Amino acid sequence: MRKFELTVLGCGAAAPTPYFLTTSQLVNIHDHLILIDAGEGVQLTLRKQRLKFQRIRTVLISHMHADHVMGLPGLIASMNLLGRKLELDVYGPQELESFVKGVWHKTETHIDFKVNFIAVDTKNPTELFRTNSYKVGSFPTKHRISTCGFRVEELSLVWNIKPYSKQKHAISLQEIVLLKKGETVVRESGEVLEPSKCCKPPEKARSYVFAADTAFTPKVVEAAMGATLLYHEATFMEVEKEIARKTMHSTASDAGRVALEAGVSGLIIGHFSNRYRDLSGLHMEAVKVFEKTVLAVEGKTILIGVIR
Ligand SMILES: [Zn+2]
Repeated sequence: MRKFELTVLGCGAAAPTPYFLTTSQLVNIHDHLILIDAGEGVQLTLRKQRLKFQRIRTVLISHMHADHVMGLPGLIASMNLLGRKLELDVYGPQELESFVKGVWHKTETHIDFKVNFIAVDTKNPTELFRTNSYKVGSFPTKHRISTCGFRVEELSLVWNIKPYSKQKHAISLQEIVLLKKGETVVRESGEVLEPSKCCKPPEKARSYVFAADTAFTPKVVEAAMGATLLYHEATFMEVEKEIARKTMHSTASDAGRVALEAGVSGLIIGHFSNRYRDLSGLHMEAVKVFEKTVLAVEGKTILIGVIR
């Protein structure tokens, strides 16, 4: 199985505390590193976790609230100090580029490698980019300012030829290409090579959906449909639901409801309010609605497809 992992770097809301850092997480899909959000101090967290931040190719920023972006200008500045040459693609709200460049300008920070800022349409679901093996899209969430979530998804995987079949049928390179796509090969001699006989079927394509910050909205349900793993914010418990509504955040029950309605395989909740030291209440509330829920744990890496 190819690598598809999530490491939550920060899962607290609003401001970093001794207990939780603000939102950021690293997704490793097929050895490509994608940073989602960049809360304050993200570069230090990456270093402490011994995660190689120079290998990050793409940054996705959900919205302009401080707890999701304050770490970005400093992270890129340090990448530069350490001699980065590799281009970096940064997807985020329209205002992100002027914010980051404004900080660099005022602090006399010069960046010598190419940073491509790509403004995301925060009103409509959009495909941001795709590679040979996966694609990344954004979708609108419901928050106080324009905000989007992200979906990182493997493309259909290939069939793998069984070595025994390869030898037995003397399968040519051209035929391998067709069989790997799941196509039947008919030889001039009339011999038929079926992928179901010559190959091992492909693994199921996996997907990861990130939704923070957001109040409950069917838009997230739609975007998360059938995902392997959903990270959904659960800032408050139901007892605080009025504050959740007012600040356009979710309760743990809301997160469970999204997971249930979207039919995801696993839910991870995070973006916890600093009022909670013990997270078991949040966990129980979500589990009541959606059983396969885990709490985000900073620094822990989860294999996407495996929730324990
Ligand atoms: Zn926010």
